[in-house]
Amino acid sequence: MQIKKLLTPYNYSTGTADRIKYIVIHYVGALGGAEANCKYYASQYIGASAHYYVGFDGEVWQSVEEKDIAWHCGAKTYIHPECRNANSLGIEMCVRNSSGNLADTSRDWYFEDATVRAAIELTKELMAKYNIPADRVIRHHDVTGKICPNPYVYNQTQHTWDAFKAALVSAPVKKSGWKQEDEGWRFYNGDTGECVRNNWHHDLEKDLWYWFDGAGIMITNKWYKYKGGWYFLNADGVMLKGTLIAESGKVYCLDSEGKMATEPVTLMPDQDGALWYNSMCEPHQKNLAPNRTMLKCGNSGSVVLPDNTKAGVSFTLTTLSIDAKDFRNPCIKFEFTSDITSTANALTLNFQIFKICKGQVHPIPVGPVWTFSRLKAINASDTFSFFACDCDICDDECCTYSVVTTVVRIASEPHDPSVPVIPIRAITSINNASLSAIIIDNTNDCKNR
Ligand SMILES: [Zn+2]
Repeated sequence: MQIKKLLTPYNYSTGTADRIKYIVIHYVGALGGAEANCKYYASQYIGASAHYYVGFDGEVWQSVEEKDIAWHCGAKTYIHPECRNANSLGIEMCVRNSSGNLADTSRDWYFEDATVRAAIELTKELMAKYNIPADRVIRHHDVTGKICPNPYVYNQTQHTWDAFKAALVSAPVKKSGWKQEDEGWRFYNGDTGECVRNNWHHDLEKDLWYWFDGAGIMITNKWYKYKGGWYFLNADGVMLKGTLIAESGKVYCLDSEGKMATEPVTLMPDQDGALWYNSMCEPHQKNLAPNRTMLKCGNSGSVVLPDNTKAGVSFTLTTLSIDAKDFRNPCIKFEFTSDITSTANALTLNFQIFKICKGQVHPIPVGPVWTFSRLKAINASDTFSFFACDCDICDDECCTYSVVTTVVRIASEPHDPSVPVIPIRAITSINNASLSAIIIDNTNDCKNR
């Protein structure tokens, strides 16, 4: 067990470990805690002492080395034939009082459960260490007749001396929770008292995972292979997840379950340009009904391209904003349609969809470039439409999609330059340019795409 040490330089006689034959249990007889008692006895000559103080929360403080002789059960007269300071260890248990009646004979002294548990654990460790049988674990009362430990003399609270003695010979005290042992940390399951070995421990409250080796020691600063996947345990033993780590000039991505990614992942630049792992892509974070669909229709727009518009000039025809955060691995199909009229003798326009998602500055093209081309003047209009898909998006993304047209050629001159014609002003307009989108859940996992 974990023991804090604050040795008194004043209150003991030197001895050797082979002197230890008995363990004597006391109560403090005042309201102070273990640390406070330890400090008090370390501060000056008192003329009394004990080896250990067991506190209200089960904490244990040591005041005198075990081999040395503490002054805990000395008296002018004894009722025990053999037990003395010189052949015993003294354990003081901190004690509560329910009424403020602090007399030796008060019936209001009682122990906290944690104090009793820890005193039993400490006593058992010392019994094992010095080969002391349970019948040599006795009360101060048994040595001198003093009413100490008060609750174990009167035995009228829920904690009795019989129960204390019984616990010493029953099954070992079950360890529970984190224990620092053997140069490492172990985690004990309270119900079995067994430490976790070759397995994970999941701290449910903080949602942290730890791995323990065959000796039950927590692994730190190490890659660990588990069921075909690699996991990284950091310096605190915590399994990292949903993050990037750099090691020896290489970068590894740990998914939101901590598994090292071996398939393509999405990295997003933050405001400072640093890349982060967009773990929102992962499907298990959402628990949505499958196969949802949404249709979104944009407003239609019109653009008139001025005469003699030069090649390379672009116009945005229509835009559509889509919030896909209620979808799981969404796929979007866009449909664009428009009506093109032109008096030009030759007209070539390129069309493409671009998107800008949250946090992005530059538009990203979606789908191929579509080309409208007509190389003679007509009076009728042409319907021009195309579709494109965007499945390369992650959950929780809100993107604005735009259809942009780029002029390749608007020519008023005749196609055949050898035929002279009267120049006319070419009027070109794109009408009813409209974009609609159908958004669906993609059944495939994002990371398996
Ligand atoms: Zn005592």
